[in-house]
Amino acid sequence: MDEDDQPSTSSASRSVNVNIDEDIDNDLDDEDFVLNDEAAEIARLQLPEEDEKPKEELDPKERDERIAKIDFRCSACDMHELVHYFGREPPFALGIKYLEDTFVMRDPFQPPPPRWQMKPEYYIAIGSHCSSCSKVVCKDAACSYYYTKTVCLPCGKVELKDWPVEAQARFRKQLAAAEADKDK
Ligand SMILES: [Zn+2]
Ligand SMILES: [Zn+2]
Repeated sequence: MDEDDQPSTSSASRSVNVNIDEDIDNDLDDEDFVLNDEAAEIARLQLPEEDEKPKEELDPKERDERIAKIDFRCSACDMHELVHYFGREPPFALGIKYLEDTFVMRDPFQPPPPRWQMKPEYYIAIGSHCSSCSKVVCKDAACSYYYTKTVCLPCGKVELKDWPVEAQARFRKQLAAAEADKDK
């Protein structure tokens, strides 16, 4: 009768009953728990694979992502390389998000980690577009400079007046070294 008057306490009294039941056939429950844990474990192990599928927006034709197909050519030093990825979030470099579109290459000297091992593999950012003139430049100090975004050295010479003193100093130092290298 009391329970009907105060429905909010009914669930509390029910859970007490359950506890008593568990004490009675304790052994059976323990076995249940082990089984449940195993099922959960299997579900967890399968998760990464299931997770990966929706992320792959690639053409079936492009599936073989290990083959570098994107042409990269630095407009300053003419360095030419086939790279794996152009954009901001290379799928093989987990957790990496560039602030600008970047040409990225898998490290050819490192074996890929097994697929189930959600682990980033080694990769190299090769270059990007100059944020000012949009020419492609490599990361070499003689070709580009990075201050909040990539600029080619000629554009850097024009833009540096808008930068903080420290960034200007760093750029001038890099420029001097690049020009000394050229004279050699
Ligand atoms: Zn270059
Ligand atoms: Zn430029």
